[in-house]
Amino acid sequence: MQGCKETLDNTFSLISKMDNKGAVASYIPELAKINPDQFGVCISTINGETHTAGDAQTKFSIQSIAKVLSLSLALSKIGDTLWTRMDFEPSGNAFNSLVQLESEQGIPRNPLINAGAIVICDILCDLYKNPKKELLQYIRKVSGIKDLTYNEVIAMSEKRTGHRNYALVHFLKSFHNINNDCDKVIDLYFHLCSIEMTCVEVAYTFGFLANNGKQLGTNIKIVSPSQSRRINAIMQTCGFYDEAGEFAYKVGLPGKSGVGGGIIALLPNQYTIATWSPKLNKKGNSYRGMKFLELFTDETQNTVF
Ligand code: GLU
Repeated sequence: MQGCKETLDNTFSLISKMDNKGAVASYIPELAKINPDQFGVCISTINGETHTAGDAQTKFSIQSIAKVLSLSLALSKIGDTLWTRMDFEPSGNAFNSLVQLESEQGIPRNPLINAGAIVICDILCDLYKNPKKELLQYIRKVSGIKDLTYNEVIAMSEKRTGHRNYALVHFLKSFHNINNDCDKVIDLYFHLCSIEMTCVEVAYTFGFLANNGKQLGTNIKIVSPSQSRRINAIMQTCGFYDEAGEFAYKVGLPGKSGVGGGIIALLPNQYTIATWSPKLNKKGNSYRGMKFLELFTDETQNTVF
């Protein structure tokens, strides 16, 4: 049986040689400028090993991966009351879909699709006078990146073209599931999605979800053990848009993808693994990231490293 680093390197080398299919997300103009051939991976084990391959130190737009952090913050603040505002069921629809909201009276299916993440932003606007600042401070704390900032260029790029997200926030408001001003809520949402990290930073940041809610290395409590288990359950069932079932079947780990081409996945009590390759498949998930994780988990078979 190969060790952690060897398996990572061998899997990376195999996937790098395959076709890099798909297309980069272009509906956010700033994301379309990316070099599509970049590819990086990083694994962080809970016993302190970190191994990387490829472009693991290049910052990329983590987009929807950040929705796990806004969920963690809201859940740690208001607990299960959160579920009066949304559900925790897979949607089976595209990330930015409006269709279920009409028949389900403005209750989003889960916090990882856009509608749910927008309601989470509204909850943060309820909780804080300056939610943008508090959210950034929280992400700085969880990631350990002291100088982390929002990428204003990406946030503004999405602001100019994010018509479906504007539609979502107003539609939610019509069902009284948004308490605050729609412009304030959607501005927070676009900023949340504009966060950039490297694969190394993503793997570390989400380490608390593999470590019973405690930050890797410091053991600072980010969420309670049961909240960590629940967030993982939601990632497992809802983390990959309308491809969540396929990811669960082929990879079998809780995870979350973003349209910037990043994926975070984790094996509780073992490791987190971050991948980044900007070309997306038809469902909006990183083509090579999905292939890499499928092969990596096949090779490792839930091994304890
Ligand atoms: N900011 C993106 C949007 O709302 C996030 C999508 C994603 O990464 O899934 O369209």
